[in-house]
Amino acid sequence: MHKDGSKKWSQNWHATFPGTILSHLLPSKMRITCDIDITNRLLPSHNMKKPVRPMRAQVSIGKKPGNGPMKNGTLYMMVCTAKDKNGTKYLIKDNVEQIFAKYVNEGRATIRFREPDQDICISKADSLQLKNFLSVLRLAMQGKTPENTTLSMLAPASAKNVERPKSKLIILSRKEYPITTDFPSSLEYLQISQCKMKRIDSRIFKLHKLKIFDLSNNIIEDIPGDFGKLPELQELRMNINELKSIPGSFFLKENLQNKLCLLDLSNNHIRVLPLQICELRNLVNLKVDSNEIEHIPPTIGRLKKLKFFSAAKNKIRVLPAGFLRLQLENVDLFDNPFESTNNVVQSSQVIGLPSLMECCARSIRKQRVAYSRDVLLPHLCQYLDSARQCWCGNFCFQCSLRYVTRVILSQISVTVTAINLTGDKSVPVEGFLCSPQCLANFQSNPHAYWRRR
Ligand SMILES: [Zn+2]
Repeated sequence: MHKDGSKKWSQNWHATFPGTILSHLLPSKMRITCDIDITNRLLPSHNMKKPVRPMRAQVSIGKKPGNGPMKNGTLYMMVCTAKDKNGTKYLIKDNVEQIFAKYVNEGRATIRFREPDQDICISKADSLQLKNFLSVLRLAMQGKTPENTTLSMLAPASAKNVERPKSKLIILSRKEYPITTDFPSSLEYLQISQCKMKRIDSRIFKLHKLKIFDLSNNIIEDIPGDFGKLPELQELRMNINELKSIPGSFFLKENLQNKLCLLDLSNNHIRVLPLQICELRNLVNLKVDSNEIEHIPPTIGRLKKLKFFSAAKNKIRVLPAGFLRLQLENVDLFDNPFESTNNVVQSSQVIGLPSLMECCARSIRKQRVAYSRDVLLPHLCQYLDSARQCWCGNFCFQCSLRYVTRVILSQISVTVTAINLTGDKSVPVEGFLCSPQCLANFQSNPHAYWRRR
């Protein structure tokens, strides 16, 4: 009935003001979706009420159907929940005792009614919408409606508006994969496993609330460049896939640098861990077991928050000295072909004078002068990239001395998994020395280095 009414109303309007745009004058739907908790102040148990889970609700202000759209009908507030989709109506004028809006910026407010004796506590509302809602409610308390707005009829809520937004979705077979429907935009946890998925669906990169993304057990070959579009991503599991490499640019996405805590790339075919992985400054847990990795980036020590590192079953022969800067809770390097030699620098070895080119390059790296292939010849860039860091902090190139020393993993980690079945917990660590002075210091006490950092 009210539908016919509004149609007639808009026809009338057109007849009166031909050519005017009607949209902002059409009856507006004053409603919000939020969580609500209703307390009855008359119940003796009111003060002893056990905490209950708030219900998802749609709260709206409008007229009871049947008053006729042009008539300045009485305004009601209506609360619809999943259990009560048709809604409960509360008279507004002379019936709202108080509005508690101290926390309106957090999307919370309480509306106290006289009849019935109830407090309606609103939470998890959009704060802007809630402010707007309360200002309309205040006008309605005085029997007014906002200027230039006609409030629509109260209508029962659709199921969508009173259902709690879906935050978790687990898909474990192709059959369950949404093809014709969208992924709910409220998802925070998404697992798609055992689906033989080859590429990551681009629709997923629109899920702005996604925190945990589990793509384990598929056949994904590439990491797309879209991960920068997931601003909340904290955990990414891509174990048991077909990844052969990870682009360095993946680790340069600002959101991942700031938020990513867990990265699981185990059981793939990755050969190189890009240097840029050391830019993930919030990474706590890194798993790269069962790949084909030969080298750990020398700058790995920059991962200051890293607590759990596992790289079992790879092809690592020696660890970089920077690895010893880590302070871990657990480390697992089981079953790697580690060098067995303990080749500490021999006293007969000497370090000569660096070439002029090496002097320049050492200085460029020390002063952190920016360089790129736009300003330098490619072979010079490559040369600069190949810098090794001496334990004194200086950079060096060919004019340096490599040493390998064995370090017990318990020096950097609270718990340690043995590196082989014989229970060995020591690993070869490779470092470089830049000058005769550093060599002399190292020879006098090869283990001073680990304590200094
Ligand atoms: Zn040095």
